[in-house]
Amino acid sequence: MRKVEPQVYLIGETRIIEEGLRAYLNHVGAPEWKSDAPTDIERIIEVYGRLCYRSWKPGMNPNVLKVRKENAEYIGNILDVKHGSVIEHPVINFIFADVSRVFTHELVRHRPGVAISQESLRFVRLDDLGQWLPTAIREDEEAVEIFAQTFRELESLQVELAEHFKLDDPGVPMHRKKVITSAMRRLAPDGLATTIGWSANPRTIRWVLEARTDKFAEEEIRLVFGKVGEIVTKRYPNLFGDYTIEMVDGLPWYKTEHSKV
Ligand SMILES: Cc1cc2nc3c(=O)[nH]c(=O)nc-3n(C[C@H](O)[C@H](O)[C@H](O)COP(=O)(O)OP(=O)(O)OC[C@H]3O[C@@H](n4cnc5c(N)ncnc54)[C@H](O)[C@@H]3O)c2cc1C
Repeated sequence: MRKVEPQVYLIGETRIIEEGLRAYLNHVGAPEWKSDAPTDIERIIEVYGRLCYRSWKPGMNPNVLKVRKENAEYIGNILDVKHGSVIEHPVINFIFADVSRVFTHELVRHRPGVAISQESLRFVRLDDLGQWLPTAIREDEEAVEIFAQTFRELESLQVELAEHFKLDDPGVPMHRKKVITSAMRRLAPDGLATTIGWSANPRTIRWVLEARTDKFAEEEIRLVFGKVGEIVTKRYPNLFGDYTIEMVDGLPWYKTEHSKV
């Protein structure tokens, strides 16, 4: 048994193909348009927003006599008026490692705007369980010992069953290993550490950040989305800069006036 701490890795994000954007701006008659967006994520949102109203510069659309110049102001207005579909365009890619199946089951309840790849426990043997303990357990010495003992027992059951089914004998076909490993995982705890890849668009990230850092959400998902919040507010300031943080029981609760854009 290993002690673990849930980890958040930002591993990718949408980028603009400059040549393609330039070609489109020439096509629409705004070749000189530039943005002060700090990232491609925020710039691409501005591009799709301006496309809607031809608001690249004043007068291109006779109905538009004034345009917002700065990306922060532009995105701020999108959030104000809840033009949320515009912020669905980019994708941000995360890996959540050493999280429990308690966490992953809650995460996958968020349906629109996500892509998910979860470590397969049909394939991965569970003879070395990672364990993260919620505060309520961590603060109680006896409970910590009960958890440790149970995890160790469950690990040894996995080893025992693997021996019983002779999974490591030479020549055991992969299909057989998969069937048995999948059956054996029924004896594994919900709290085991696993990994899930989660890509989402900013509209979804904003909603999940709000819902899952809420003080009434579960501790582990609050912890993980607290880390997500720290990353996205630093890296995409114009898109996530409207959040304020209230610390509750040592974890950040991300709040905004632009709820559920
Ligand atoms: C504190 C807390 C406690 C919870 N407790 C429980 C519990 O006890 N039992 C339980 O089962 N779940 C529980 N959940 C999960 C919760 O019910 C939702 O399933 C989960 O939070 C996903 O959020 P969402 O419904 O906003 O949907 P998401 O999938 O995140 O979708 C985002 C938004 O898109 C819209 N949307 C998505 N799908 C549809 C649709 N089919 N039709 C119409 N609009 C749609 C809605 O506006 C929705 O809010 C809990 C969640 C929290 C945060």
